[in-house]
Amino acid sequence: MSTDTSSPNSELSDKYAHNARGEWRPDYPIKHAPLLQWSVRFKAIAKWFFGWPGYLWPQNISYLTITLTVWFLTQPDITRCVTFEADWMLQILSRNMVLMWLFYGGLYYYLYIRKAEGTKTKFDAKWPTRNSRVFLFRDQVKDNIFWTCGVAGLIWTGYEVLTLWLYANHYIPWLLWSEHPVYFVLWFLMIPIWRDFHFYWIHRLSHWKPLYKNVHYLHHKNINPNPWSGMAMHPVETLLYLSVVAIHWIVPSHPLHALFTMQHAVMGAAHGHHGFEGPLVKGKIPSSSYFHYLHHRYFESNYGGSTLPLDQWFGTFREGLPEGEGSKLAEEQVI
Ligand SMILES: [Zn+2]
Ligand SMILES: [Zn+2]
Repeated sequence: MSTDTSSPNSELSDKYAHNARGEWRPDYPIKHAPLLQWSVRFKAIAKWFFGWPGYLWPQNISYLTITLTVWFLTQPDITRCVTFEADWMLQILSRNMVLMWLFYGGLYYYLYIRKAEGTKTKFDAKWPTRNSRVFLFRDQVKDNIFWTCGVAGLIWTGYEVLTLWLYANHYIPWLLWSEHPVYFVLWFLMIPIWRDFHFYWIHRLSHWKPLYKNVHYLHHKNINPNPWSGMAMHPVETLLYLSVVAIHWIVPSHPLHALFTMQHAVMGAAHGHHGFEGPLVKGKIPSSSYFHYLHHRYFESNYGGSTLPLDQWFGTFREGLPEGEGSKLAEEQVI
């Protein structure tokens, strides 16, 4: 499947038109959430917070539901985590691998193997690269699975193991639901915002020339990303990216908060790279990866996410309309 220009509905045809490079582009700009804007717009903030799609629904509540399910079904008792023993560490490694294959593999299966959405709203109509020297095993997907599942999966597990060991030994401060229920809930609401803040600065740091040339270049081989590109990173970059959990080593919180932070970072990376504009699944599930897709395409823009307006504040925001061709295309910069 390619474009839909033969559709008898001309309005639909225009909307789904591809440009000369075969890329599909939404005909509306991406936007930041109405947070921290100069004029406080309470109505807009309330709509963004409670609306569909909004801050809570569907993405963050879905991630939290997954975290709670994983917690109640697979989390080792904290008393087992006082010492580094193979049994509970392997339990975490295996559940992380299952989660990764279900989430990354599920998105990849639906969008890239079943091709259930076709290419109608795929930003780049091309499928992942095969037979290319740029990627390990001469195959973009195999390369991405190696870095995401094989390498990042281990580092992710390492961070979780270390954090649980710190909690179990009371080396880091605890927060209990029974003592501070309001603070406990507020933590969950703040985690996606903290993630956005952390990602923006870590990502800008990764574009500092020495780090880019030796580390971040590996992720940017994926000009046309797919879900498995999410954590296809150099191990140093994965260490930086997942250091988002370190806030729990300082600010009082519960292991459940730390788990949500880690899983939000891991699942968010698959979501941010899937390469499609939603809504998906028969137009029902809002899900866009356009914000970060533009970063892969144009490099020096959209370093963060769409929750905090950091890209706007620091002059690195690209709204994604077809005429916004200020930066060089990624192909002209690498490889
Ligand atoms: Zn990326
Ligand atoms: Zn980058």
